[in-house]
Amino acid sequence: MRHILLSSIAAGLLAAVAVAQQGPAGPANPARGGGRGGRGVEIPRGEECPAGTTLVRVGTCQAPEFPPPSIVDYRPESSLVVEQHPVPRAKFPVVDIHSHTGPTPATIASLIAQMDGLNIRVLNNLSGGSGDALAQRVKYIKSTPHANRFTVFANGLNQFRSVAPGYGRTAAAQLEADVKNGAVGLKIFKETGMDTKKADGTRLAINDPELSPIWETAARLNIPVIIHTAEPPEFFEPLDMHNERWLELALFNNRRRYLIPVSFETLATERDDLFKKHPKTRFISAHFGWHANDLGRAARLLDAHPNVVLELAAILYDIGRQPRAAHDFFVKYQDRILFGKDTYAPEEFPYYWRVLETRDEYFDYYRDYHAFWKLYGMDLPDEVLKKLYYKNALRVVPGLPQTGWPK
Ligand SMILES: [Zn+2]
Repeated sequence: MRHILLSSIAAGLLAAVAVAQQGPAGPANPARGGGRGGRGVEIPRGEECPAGTTLVRVGTCQAPEFPPPSIVDYRPESSLVVEQHPVPRAKFPVVDIHSHTGPTPATIASLIAQMDGLNIRVLNNLSGGSGDALAQRVKYIKSTPHANRFTVFANGLNQFRSVAPGYGRTAAAQLEADVKNGAVGLKIFKETGMDTKKADGTRLAINDPELSPIWETAARLNIPVIIHTAEPPEFFEPLDMHNERWLELALFNNRRRYLIPVSFETLATERDDLFKKHPKTRFISAHFGWHANDLGRAARLLDAHPNVVLELAAILYDIGRQPRAAHDFFVKYQDRILFGKDTYAPEEFPYYWRVLETRDEYFDYYRDYHAFWKLYGMDLPDEVLKKLYYKNALRVVPGLPQTGWPK
């Protein structure tokens, strides 16, 4: 049970001592609030401090003397002085396998200039669409002097909506046409398997046998399928004071996956079943399969499914907070990871280069709401960087421009 540790008399005495120590004219120093003079609350071992208080000694909680800032406003500046090695440009040319950006006549010049500055050789647009839209995208790329800098993946026919018997064969035929038109892979968006409903109103599971002709066609055409399954596990957890993505979930209502009936584990199980049932199809599990917070599980995924590789878009905050474990994982599975970024933002790529290439410590991430922690460099060897940046992608995606890369 909680009880007030200091009696009001004792607290009053301590406050009087504090005033005496400051001297008669000494103003209270706000920076020294807390500690003596505060009201402690004793708690049993293992129990949490009550709301509005924090642990100041084992078994004792205390409220700040001043109204605490919200997590939105609190931005402490690190006083740590260490060497800084920002990396504006990747050490080796990069394939960004997970982009949603492609060139248009209005953007291509600036896009190429930005990519050259960052050392991104190829930007792969996963939002290629299908049918005529996809054919037009490829046609435009081929008409420019930069045809070897941009590739596209096709998307499923009608975004897998209203799947009914026969859909799989029709979608497989559409995929074959899209590949003829220049698509170099197939992208499955996260809605498929999680939200999308079949014609009969039930949720379309990603391992639904109706979709099998699509995966078999991808294998026959020798193209990979990149698949985004589920969301970070914390998105499926209750939005309480223990959820490390609290701010993100409070900001973006479409990420509150704890509100949907399907669980992270169900989605991961269905995805793994898909990987198992189609061993000849090459799958790229986007966002590390959302297992970057549990590299043991990521390792088991790779060990169980030789047809699967991982892609590291949007999980920098997880590998950057465990640089030693991540280093060892990337060395051990150096043939099984592709570089991807997802959101195309030129100012954000250097954070990836810095985490992957340097041994820098305790530096800022670029999105406060993603991660309330700092990043560290993994210091990967050159050969691992080359595989991660382009060699693995060239093997997994044969339709990428294959010439002109360093050995
Ligand atoms: Zn994406």
